[in-house]
Amino acid sequence: MSGISMCLEQTPEVDYLKYSFLNSYDICNRVDLNEYYTYYNYLYFQDTLTPVDFIEIRWNDLLGDLAGMCTKTYSGTIIELNPIYLNKYPEEFPSIIVHEMIHLITLDHGDRFLEEVERISKLGLEINVYCKHNLSVEG
Ligand SMILES: [Zn+2]
Repeated sequence: MSGISMCLEQTPEVDYLKYSFLNSYDICNRVDLNEYYTYYNYLYFQDTLTPVDFIEIRWNDLLGDLAGMCTKTYSGTIIELNPIYLNKYPEEFPSIIVHEMIHLITLDHGDRFLEEVERISKLGLEINVYCKHNLSVEG
């Protein structure tokens, strides 16, 4: 993790993050969620979201039908991602984590959420607004 803020000044240095979620090992072992959060915060939000040190991002294999979840409590914010789902559909990782990151701005899928989806799609990432929380995970 050390040195990532330096690397982010030079986009080519973090090019491997663009695709490294796409391989066949268990996603929990190959994807560093804090690293990706920092990367996408820089890439799509100009570092305006909560700094990674003040948020918890973790895997949760008990999410059932949910691909991801964002929870705000009095003690802080937690983003959880479903490794069972993402091991099946690793190509959806960027869309799902960024979807949850938009929930740091607004918790529902209203106009503010859709504005962010529209803005980020112009930067090259398509985010599925409605299905991600409801897709079922088979097997
Ligand atoms: Zn959502």
